[in-house]
Amino acid sequence: MLIKTLQKIQFEGNEEQSILDDALKAGFFFEYSCKNGQCGVCKTNLLEGEVIELQAQIALSHADRINQKILSCCCAPKTDILIDADDLKELEGIEVKTFPARINKIEKKTEQIIELELRLPPATNFNFLEGQFVDVIGPAGIRRSYSLANSASNKSINLFIKKVKDGQLSQYWFNEASKNDLLRIEGPKGTFFFREKKDHVVFLATGTGIAPIKSILDKLSELSSELSFSLYWGNRNPDDFFWQPDYKNLNLKYTPVLSRNHENWADKIGYVQNAVIEDFGNLESVQVYACGSLEMIESAKELFVKKGLEEKYYHSDAFVSS
Ligand SMILES: Cc1cc2nc3c(=O)[nH]c(=O)nc-3n(C[C@H](O)[C@H](O)[C@H](O)COP(=O)(O)OP(=O)(O)OC[C@H]3O[C@@H](n4cnc5c(N)ncnc54)[C@H](O)[C@@H]3O)c2cc1C
Repeated sequence: MLIKTLQKIQFEGNEEQSILDDALKAGFFFEYSCKNGQCGVCKTNLLEGEVIELQAQIALSHADRINQKILSCCCAPKTDILIDADDLKELEGIEVKTFPARINKIEKKTEQIIELELRLPPATNFNFLEGQFVDVIGPAGIRRSYSLANSASNKSINLFIKKVKDGQLSQYWFNEASKNDLLRIEGPKGTFFFREKKDHVVFLATGTGIAPIKSILDKLSELSSELSFSLYWGNRNPDDFFWQPDYKNLNLKYTPVLSRNHENWADKIGYVQNAVIEDFGNLESVQVYACGSLEMIESAKELFVKKGLEEKYYHSDAFVSS
């Protein structure tokens, strides 16, 4: 079966493998993140032909289905097809590989969050774009995705990991993991990376969703970027703000947002996406990078598009379960 795009690329596909995997195998990079139908990042228009649903397209709304939208991570071609999907050239040369990695450091940031530092074998050439994530393969082969929290120039791998109640890998990270444990990582993955398209950039995060945004900001700081940035970070408790942005050479305005009232809190209160709306009457001239809970990402997109944001300038990465 032939898969063609409006952007004039074409490659072979088959009924057993997703369109996204066909594209990646053929060396093309379409937007994607979770690869299990939940986050919706790989949503595209099916313009001609038919597809088979290999796994449930959870992120599609009723209107999406009526409008012939599909998730490229969930569908395989049944006939030759034409879709609308950009090839992200920035990812050319970034290879997904599997590496052994040892735990170098585990630092408790709060009762619920650790920073994990992994080290790779000395000769390893691990290259990534800031904002991407890796799959960590832990004990018993359990695999979970975590966003890189450092820039690529820093040769270690730093992750911010939140404890999830009854979570399989959470149990390992918070009760069993120790220095020098051997794990495997597969990556880098995902298409949440910085594209310089507008002069003002709004970053939006909840919880450990700050990880890829810190990674992007670290990189922008190394480049002494002259763009202007607003960062909104939402958490439940004042103690959850386990990291403080400190970029002397960036024009960055940071707004921490607490989701509920607290006596020792002088900054904004409420949902992080509403805090953005309070500050920006109109979002026509900005681009947005949002990372964290799926609820926040979906709600922010809807709100921001209503306030004039062009959908193509909304980039997101949802920390859905693996
Ligand atoms: C692209 C991507 C990047 C991610 N990056 C990070 C990161 O940088 N830091 C980080 O802490 N997590 C991140 N996650 C989430 C992470 O991959 C795991 O889902 C999470 O750590 C839970 O794993 P677990 O094995 O402890 O729990 P599991 O055994 O997978 O789940 C236990 C229970 O918790 C629920 N659950 C699982 N994950 C979540 C969640 N995220 N929120 C609410 N409920 C959940 C499950 O449905 C299940 O009922 C990312 C996810 C994706 C898809």
